[in-house]
Amino acid sequence: MSSESVETRRHHVVIIGSGFGGLTAAKSLKHADVDVTLIAKTTHHLFQPLLYQVATGVLSEGEIAPATRLILKKQKNVQVLLGEVDNIDLANKTVHSHLMEMESVTPYDSLIVAAGAQQSYFGNDQFATFAPGMKTIDDALELRGRIIGAFEAAEVTTSQAERERRLTFVVVGAGPTGVELAGQIAELADRTLAGAFRTIEPNDCRVILLDAAPAVLPPMGEKLGLKAQHRLEKMGVEIQLNAMVSDVDRMGITVKEKDGTTRRIECACKVWSAGVQASGLGKQLAEQSDGTEVDRAGRVVVEPDLTVKGHPNVFVVGDLMSVPKVPGMAQGAIQGSKYATKLIKASLKGDDDPANRKPFKYFDKGSMATVSRFNAVAQVGKLEFAGFFAWVAWLGLHLFYLVGHKNRFTTIIAWAIAFIGRGRGQMAITSQMIYARLAMEQLQKNGTPLAMNISPDVAAAEPEKAEPSEQKAAG
Ligand SMILES: Cc1cc2nc3c(=O)[nH]c(=O)nc-3n(C[C@H](O)[C@H](O)[C@H](O)COP(=O)(O)OP(=O)(O)OC[C@H]3O[C@@H](n4cnc5c(N)ncnc54)[C@H](O)[C@@H]3O)c2cc1C
Repeated sequence: MSSESVETRRHHVVIIGSGFGGLTAAKSLKHADVDVTLIAKTTHHLFQPLLYQVATGVLSEGEIAPATRLILKKQKNVQVLLGEVDNIDLANKTVHSHLMEMESVTPYDSLIVAAGAQQSYFGNDQFATFAPGMKTIDDALELRGRIIGAFEAAEVTTSQAERERRLTFVVVGAGPTGVELAGQIAELADRTLAGAFRTIEPNDCRVILLDAAPAVLPPMGEKLGLKAQHRLEKMGVEIQLNAMVSDVDRMGITVKEKDGTTRRIECACKVWSAGVQASGLGKQLAEQSDGTEVDRAGRVVVEPDLTVKGHPNVFVVGDLMSVPKVPGMAQGAIQGSKYATKLIKASLKGDDDPANRKPFKYFDKGSMATVSRFNAVAQVGKLEFAGFFAWVAWLGLHLFYLVGHKNRFTTIIAWAIAFIGRGRGQMAITSQMIYARLAMEQLQKNGTPLAMNISPDVAAAEPEKAEPSEQKAAG
């Protein structure tokens, strides 16, 4: 056998996703003797906990979503591939992805699936048309357009009823995201927009935080939930609990009370932050792995070593994994990825026996939610605290986990402007922010291949397939 024919290829790790799980996994393999391919459907690493500040004009999208390729630029053993994974073939150890009409098949020796979760409408996906969620940069920018656009429309209309409808904001879901967003809409109206209109008082707007559950912030316990609720109420936010949304349309929402009666809230701007549904890749993995199941939210019920049954080289981490007592939070994804890459590195040295792996152990570092400027609630172990010190702790922690020195620096300045002053640097809105999602959905229904951030190629790549109206929209 000639020396050329001896296989010299390195162990190949494929990572799906560039969120907290995917990025941590790639970085943890920096000094390992492996080649890494990170495949994600977005070009950026998104810091989801600050999406609500993009939606309310405090931060720009670039501050919370640096390009993954640039973060990993100096890590020579990683290739970043933009593409949506459609299929994972466990038998042939390959990952199939596409970018527009370009298909890629990427073989792996070890696989880390960190594809996260999407918004769940609990079977009522039609609600999304008028009540977008907040999971992506697109979502946050659309919400910014809808929130600021509602004030603009209220200034123009001469109808009192329509003005009230435009100035009513409903946030569905009183978890951390809902609490943070409702608080920020109220502060935007009260501090930044005050005095900027002539026919309306922005402060007259109604911000309603609504939930089918009987409490605000249920995972953080009664005491902190009540503290957050009282603070929001002090800011003028209406809290409506035990209220289930039964319909959403352009003009407003229908709410079903606990006693079965229904009522309407006429409102232009609605936001959905009520539930999560794991990536469909989870179900795909479970179907191919004998005995692995998914839970009700589509998360993979993984083995104690975060793998799927019969495939000790296939790890599922982050929001896509279902592990008792591990919440769908950044720490779950970060710790899961570190655990998986540690096992991969051990296997390269021959130190890993899949049958005798130490199970994944989650270290709960606590949870926090901001309610308003200078006010947050925090839970660290048995310690619960609220108010200014919780807010300072929240600031410090978020700055620590934000990627990039430049982003940290500009974020501190933006926070000073918004929270010490009254300004917000990101108040620009465009028609595309508000209408592009629905237009893109229409294009996809018509068979035009779309990919995030690749718009100029859409019409150029498929001119013969696109109808004239589609070409106009795409261009
Ligand atoms: C608004 C909001 C606020 C939050 N606030 C907090 C907070 O304050 N504290 C906290 O700890 N947690 C918070 N979280 C939760 C936290 O962000 C998640 O738990 C964490 O992001 C999970 O990391 P992940 O890597 O599993 O998934 P994600 O970060 O969601 O990343 C998933 C990745 O997979 C990619 N992907 C998905 N499907 C495919 C596919 N088919 N092909 C290719 N790529 C794909 C996506 O593009 C993305 O890069 C918040 C979440 C949201 C939405």
